[in-house]
Amino acid sequence: MRVGLGTDVHPVEAGRECWVAGLRWEGADGCSGHSDGDVAVHALCDALLSAAGLGDLGAVFGTGRPEWAGASGATLLAEVRRLVGAEGWVLGNAAVQVIGNAPKIGTRRAEAQQVLSDVLGGPVSVSGTTTDGLGLTGRGEGIAAIATALLVPA
Ligand code: MG
Repeated sequence: MRVGLGTDVHPVEAGRECWVAGLRWEGADGCSGHSDGDVAVHALCDALLSAAGLGDLGAVFGTGRPEWAGASGATLLAEVRRLVGAEGWVLGNAAVQVIGNAPKIGTRRAEAQQVLSDVLGGPVSVSGTTTDGLGLTGRGEGIAAIATALLVPA
């Protein structure tokens, strides 16, 4: 078995469509970025790539790969699943925590877990927290996420 970790932070951009944990969140400002700015998905991708020893998101989908610009979180996750699968791994389980004032993950936790688990083919736990007004997430300037993943031989 192999464990991996990933983190991500993106700036919040007023009026941008909000995608977090594979879901679109009405009424919340989204994050700017090369793709849809889904920090939870990006942290999960990095955790999976890390566990498989395949480097990181920047290397696989970075700004030098224009074909991935604007890619949805589900698209990125499906490609990461394919890459780790090609190395002989499948997901044991993964966990991702979103750190920010909004959106409120707990209001749609089951839905987020279902979407992410379906695309990765294994159980994904989703949680949320705030930093009590401290730092860039507390001021609403950004949203962060941290993830772990356990891969097992296929
Ligand atoms: Mg990112």
